Amino acid sequence: MPGGVNSPVRSFNAVGGSPAFISKAKGAYTYDLDGNKYIDYMSSWGPLILGHSDPDVVRAIKQAAERGTSYGAPCENEVAIAKLIVKSFPGIDMVRMTNSGTEATMSAVRLARAYTNRDYIIKFEGCYHGHADYLLVQAGSGATTFGTPSSPGVPKSFTDKTLLAKYNDFSSVEKLFEKYGDKIAAVILEPVAANMGVILPQKDFLKKLKRVTKKNGALLIFDEVITGFRLGMGGAQKYFGVTPDITCLGKIIGGGLPVGAFGASKKIMKMVAPIGPMYQAGTLSGNPLAMAAGLTTLSKLNKTSNYKKLRSLTNSLVEGLQDIIKKNEIKASINSLESMFTVFFTEHAPHDYKTALACDTKKYSKFFENLLGTGIMFPPSQFEAVFLSLSHTEKDVDKTLNALYRSFKSL
Ligand SMILES: *Cc1c(COP(=O)(O)O)cnc(C)c1O
Repeated sequence: MPGGVNSPVRSFNAVGGSPAFISKAKGAYTYDLDGNKYIDYMSSWGPLILGHSDPDVVRAIKQAAERGTSYGAPCENEVAIAKLIVKSFPGIDMVRMTNSGTEATMSAVRLARAYTNRDYIIKFEGCYHGHADYLLVQAGSGATTFGTPSSPGVPKSFTDKTLLAKYNDFSSVEKLFEKYGDKIAAVILEPVAANMGVILPQKDFLKKLKRVTKKNGALLIFDEVITGFRLGMGGAQKYFGVTPDITCLGKIIGGGLPVGAFGASKKIMKMVAPIGPMYQAGTLSGNPLAMAAGLTTLSKLNKTSNYKKLRSLTNSLVEGLQDIIKKNEIKASINSLESMFTVFFTEHAPHDYKTALACDTKKYSKFFENLLGTGIMFPPSQFEAVFLSLSHTEKDVDKTLNALYRSFKSL
């Protein structure tokens, strides 16, 4: 396998060393083949908000498997999860399941183009939307880590309808609308960016995007593959009170199995086959195992007290970290929201791609390595998010703060 992995950041290329091969995972912990135990803060890049192998999720998957692993025909759990998603997200009246977040964003962009009968899209530097050709332009995540903002193999003609704007810089969006106005089908973004490290939208940034898209007859697409069910049951759109035209979901809604979804108002979703002309399909879409895992995860998660617990746990960790940074005069800063955050090795917290890229990634690598040595698994790249789960405890947080202190000290 290239790099020994099936997804690039897993290789530890960004931080050095060789990746831990995981043999099992339970709750907040992962165990590698060499017998090491880690407090895991990757949560499989976000999906595992309940923690690893939650007993109810595992039972649901087992029971679903007993009833058949794939039908190629509709089943009850697809309806149940669709209902839950529609109920939770202000911007979704109808939803279509896919097999990954990449498929969700690809389909969302196709839908926006089909609905508006326009070709151009605006994306933001540092936002990652999966690995579709025309979205791999100045993308975050692995694309940032490996310094290949635009991957070879993507023909110029595939990306020449992708316009680039700067995150948190509304004037960069306005300028594009002035020039391309009635040719722009959609603006797509992560409402809270999490693939250049966590970067929060500044006050009214999302509201202004809503206004400018509406005014110009373009659609607003929120890629909530990470934020959906992470910031709360209604994702970033409910959190910030801005309803997008199209929403992309993934990660948490699959409960650790491969899933994505896109949804919108009925008027827009009526474009999608078979009730509309826009083609979109999937042999394993709405897979019964994935639906069982997702539905169980979302049903279990659906309590205000869960989000409160996640928030308070994350606050303990983040506040402890801020304290260590301040007391030891470390050149680091933190961006955090609800149960996700990033430690940036730069004095002032980044607010866009450029300021994120200015971080000292060598320092992050050393920091990561130190933590790993003490049994703490942070994401193996400066440009990813730490995710807490309901399986983490105050005791884990205390242990982590101790390790963080020592890790900073030995920098
Ligand atoms: C992970 C991610 C994707 C891609 O999802 P995959 O399931 O990896 O294809 C898309 N958008 C965002 C914001 C993501 O974090």
